[in-house]
Amino acid sequence: MLSLKSFVSEIKGIGQNTAKHLKKLNIQTVEDLLYYFPFRYEDWTKSIPINQLQDDFIANVVGIIELIQNKKSAKKRMNITEALVNDGTASLKVIWFNQPFIVNNLKVGNKLSLAGKIEKNYGGLTMNSPIYEKVGKNKLIHTQGLVPIYHLTGNVTQKQIRYLISQTLFLAKNIKDPIPPETKQVLGKEYSLLSLNKALYKIHSPTSGSDIKNSQDKLAFDELFLLHTKTQLIRRDIKNSRAEPVKFKEKITKNFVANLTFQLTNAQRKASWEILQDLGKNHPMSRLLEGDVGSGKTVVATIALLNVSHNRKKQSVLMAPTEVLAGQHFQSLDKFLKKFNINIGLFTKSNKLTNQTPEEKKISKNKLITFIKNGDIDIIIGTHALIQEDVTFHNLNLAIIDEQHRFGVEQRKTLIAKSSNKQNMPHLLSMTATPIPRSLALALFGDLNISIIDELPANRKPIITKIVPKNKRNQAYDFIKNQLQEGKQAFVICPLIESSPKLEVQSVEEEYKKLTNNIFPKYRIAMMHGKLKPREKEKIMREFLENNFQILISTSVIEVGVDIPNATVMIIEGAERFGLSQLHQFRGRVSRGQHQSYCFLFTENKNEKTKQRLQSLVDHQDGFTLSKMDLKLRGSGDMYGTTQKGFPQLKVASLFDYDLMKKAQSAAKMVIENDPELKKYPRLAEKIKEEKQKIHLE
Ligand code: ADP
Ligand code: MG
Repeated sequence: MLSLKSFVSEIKGIGQNTAKHLKKLNIQTVEDLLYYFPFRYEDWTKSIPINQLQDDFIANVVGIIELIQNKKSAKKRMNITEALVNDGTASLKVIWFNQPFIVNNLKVGNKLSLAGKIEKNYGGLTMNSPIYEKVGKNKLIHTQGLVPIYHLTGNVTQKQIRYLISQTLFLAKNIKDPIPPETKQVLGKEYSLLSLNKALYKIHSPTSGSDIKNSQDKLAFDELFLLHTKTQLIRRDIKNSRAEPVKFKEKITKNFVANLTFQLTNAQRKASWEILQDLGKNHPMSRLLEGDVGSGKTVVATIALLNVSHNRKKQSVLMAPTEVLAGQHFQSLDKFLKKFNINIGLFTKSNKLTNQTPEEKKISKNKLITFIKNGDIDIIIGTHALIQEDVTFHNLNLAIIDEQHRFGVEQRKTLIAKSSNKQNMPHLLSMTATPIPRSLALALFGDLNISIIDELPANRKPIITKIVPKNKRNQAYDFIKNQLQEGKQAFVICPLIESSPKLEVQSVEEEYKKLTNNIFPKYRIAMMHGKLKPREKEKIMREFLENNFQILISTSVIEVGVDIPNATVMIIEGAERFGLSQLHQFRGRVSRGQHQSYCFLFTENKNEKTKQRLQSLVDHQDGFTLSKMDLKLRGSGDMYGTTQKGFPQLKVASLFDYDLMKKAQSAAKMVIENDPELKKYPRLAEKIKEEKQKIHLE
């Protein structure tokens, strides 16, 4: 007997292989499956008699197969399956391309339900490549009514996932609602939500638009309520724990600022001040520093590090997601802090350095570990290697996490647990270049502390951004050739194909062939994509930095903040597939040096709305403005590149629904105030525990 906790492999008709692919979507049990929600629906509610069909109709048709056969196309490149289907009013010609196996499945006399678009071909009407299912004793789930569409990767198909859900949906009635019933008071009358059982059933199998809306409301509320409960519990823990306060070293700080080769922006000053005030308290700081690429977060972090280092015996760590980035931080900090007598160490898998012996900086792993343990190093800069290896901190007072969305909560915890000082928690500063508007961050995280650097240093040249339609491509390529001729370097980003990482790699390879053979034969080109191991990606980035090749073709894995000062060109293929914030992040990869930089948005999409959307990148250089626009567009149901790095991962709730967020927040507050240990709500406590395992933003 199937239950909620059963593994999906126990469902009839599913093999180990499919189970493996489902695992990649985080679906292991029947319950996981029921919590895997569709992101949109295909509307096949119109069933139309064949004699009433017209060109361009999108419809469902049911009839008997009169004839079905495979043919070769005129040039023999393609297999065509042709069928005639009759519903008593007339016959309709149906065509599938390159799916010869269909004839093994469908036979003359079978009753068939088809969903697709009607087209006019050579005078007659046909239905091309429709979705089909046989009419029999099972309920029709693919071709009639509102049919759910799920985000999929790898080898799982829509039909498979719908089948699996149809086999398990009866269990939705057994799911116990973790949300305390008292929350209803907070919600008030305007939100009378469905029961969880009904919402879970209806989200997969709605019979009307309001079914979809109502189940989404309930599931969105639950999602936000859980998020708020979780973050509030974390924040309460932080408030209840102790940290050693850091004395503000005014003279040293002023001296540091005065000796910089540039003037701090007002936003940088304000952020530094907010951080220094937090550090002075005897409970741990938990602050997020947000600032666009190039806004100068490192120097703000350095001011905090400088103060901690000049408080006796206190140690800090700065974590970066890649070796190249950690290396760049090491160099910047060494430069910034030259005159301040601070010992800095770099700890990555392939590099162990200190700034103490200028000629010979390399140091053995064991030696560096000993130095860290004894407190001979004040600031440790490193990567994940710090977590994996046997490192103990001397008296960890401040942990700074750069590009925080790349680290999980558990990783941060492990890092913090490595301090020898067990009574005190370190202060935590997370940094991100993803601009989440403050109002959104507040609605999502309530009393989260945020510092925002919302101005760029004055000397920055805006990046010249151009939308390049198909007929302007050659002109753009010529321009880029000139840049390469001058010794500059270029990035090329390939289109996002969320549904198929395999196709994404293929598109990188095709682009590589095209650029090496036809467009830039004189230049050296390299490729990068998600299938490579982190070390391989690191190596490519390092070689690009050393100018060993001029063009780097990549999928979106390029994002994280490495500086390639010599790169002045960013080309984005299929630009319409990315969200504005993500495009802005790509663009931020260039203009890291003195030179004028350029961003080319290649698109063959002629849609007016798409053009307008891309135009905002031409018009705006500020990440926060773009992020707000992006959210508005998403809020209005426009969908493209859904995974948005740095934003909290919400499955149903919209980032734009502030009202529901606020409600969920007060509901969570009420529950925690009444029952801080969640003793009355074991199901909620369990759910929160599961949630805490996942990556989130704090
Ligand atoms: P990010 O916020 O992306 O991490 P960085 O901290 O790497 O940005 O800063 C980018 C560059 O700008 C660095 O070379 C840094 O030294 C420089 N910089 C930082 N603040 C200023 C400023 N106020 N004026 C001019 N240059 C600055
Ligand atoms: Mg940075």
